[in-house]
Amino acid sequence: MSIFVFDDQVGRIELLEHMGTDTSIVAAARISYEGCQLTSSDTHLLRYLMRMRHTSPFEMCELKFKVVAPIMVARQWMRHRTGSFNEQSARYSELEDRFYVPDVEHIQAQSTTNKQGRDANPVRQAAVVRDVMIQTNEDAYRTYQDLLSQGVAREVARMVLPVSIYTEFIWKVNLHNLLHFCHLRADPHAQYEIRVYAEAIVYILERKFPATTLAWKDYVRDAVTLSAPALAVIKGDDVERLSKRERTELLDQINNNFF
Ligand SMILES: Cc1cc2nc3c(=O)[nH]c(=O)nc-3n(C[C@H](O)[C@H](O)[C@H](O)COP(=O)(O)OP(=O)(O)OC[C@H]3O[C@@H](n4cnc5c(N)ncnc54)[C@H](O)[C@@H]3O)c2cc1C
Repeated sequence: MSIFVFDDQVGRIELLEHMGTDTSIVAAARISYEGCQLTSSDTHLLRYLMRMRHTSPFEMCELKFKVVAPIMVARQWMRHRTGSFNEQSARYSELEDRFYVPDVEHIQAQSTTNKQGRDANPVRQAAVVRDVMIQTNEDAYRTYQDLLSQGVAREVARMVLPVSIYTEFIWKVNLHNLLHFCHLRADPHAQYEIRVYAEAIVYILERKFPATTLAWKDYVRDAVTLSAPALAVIKGDDVERLSKRERTELLDQINNNFF
């Protein structure tokens, strides 16, 4: 299964192979043999494991992907230390002329509320910015080629290339750590360019581990955690910390989310 994540038909993620199914997780939890079909009691147990954060049975399943991503996405990806990576070497082989350039709608202004994020709408001169990016990539790649043709080593010549150039790597990870990756990177706080890969992984998981993915959405991704102060307010123990109106708003929010 291979999914292109950008319109450029370059950035993509491919599931190369995987080990295990929803039933392997249940079998591991019971220390028993794996059945062919997931029974309703299996599903119940699987959801219990997810809910109680009994994580080790999920580690019994493994997935191996091929990823083609811009270097700045790969950098964020490789911060996830619990998988195994093998990346193409730009010392060994020449990098191809493949750069990620955001579509106009993704060239937004710096967010004023989130120092790490973008505003919702594209900047007015987004098309011009996009042209500048394309031109810069072309200039950098031309210089790279010039240096190579002058006999400069690949490991040195690559230093002129921007982080938007595509790299490729193989990633092997167990299901528990993969879901952790998706929790962080399919989240709206993650940068759009890695989020699309994480969303593609969720799509793949829905097909390969449907019951696990549903349990993960229910008990992790879409769950709400309440802090101790918020809980104190809800229980009415510490009402002074919020005005009457604020308390009503909070209770409205809770009612809308939970009931
Ligand atoms: C929205 C967002 C913004 C970010 N911004 C920044 C940033 O500005 N700067 C920056 O440097 N990083 C940033 N990161 C990266 C982030 O700090 C983590 O390094 C990255 O998300 C990997 O998460 P992880 O450690 O949980 O995952 P993994 O490395 O896969 O680890 C999984 C879990 O294993 C455990 N673990 C693994 N290794 C260790 C260890 N050595 N010691 C203790 N426990 C360990 C931890 O419980 C960890 O949660 C950002 C991440 C996100 C999602």
